[in-house]
Amino acid sequence: MAEPLVQEDYVEADFIHSDTAIANHIDNTVKDDTTRTNLQTLHTLLWTIAQMLNIQISMDCAFRCTELNNKVGGVPSSEHRLGKAADCVPVGMTVTEFFEALQQIAKDGNVVFGQVISEKGRWVHISTTNPHKNEFMTTTDGKHYTHV
Ligand SMILES: [Zn+2]
Repeated sequence: MAEPLVQEDYVEADFIHSDTAIANHIDNTVKDDTTRTNLQTLHTLLWTIAQMLNIQISMDCAFRCTELNNKVGGVPSSEHRLGKAADCVPVGMTVTEFFEALQQIAKDGNVVFGQVISEKGRWVHISTTNPHKNEFMTTTDGKHYTHV
């Protein structure tokens, strides 16, 4: 199944979509308003970026319930669990170009991110600010992180 693209309007189904959840019969629906609010804030951030860069953004994974987070080996403190992070792949530019463009956006001060992590050169993990603020990192193994 194709990964969902970030759309102008918040579409919850896009933010809870997970092939792993479907394959493993995991109920990855949002159960509380705090998570939903976090996802809407995340959506606003991602849509803003897409507009600024004039690209589409495909989401590999945004929200993960505890069961799904465990299944994919996410750390317990993962911001995906709170609906505050999405793993994104740009359409029409490379992951490296996308990561660099996000650094420039942060530097220009137009948008504040939480953590932005280029993961294995395959996707960029983007979270909303609080508690983190404009932390840019790369990882090649998902275990060791280098600040840039
Ligand atoms: Zn992530």
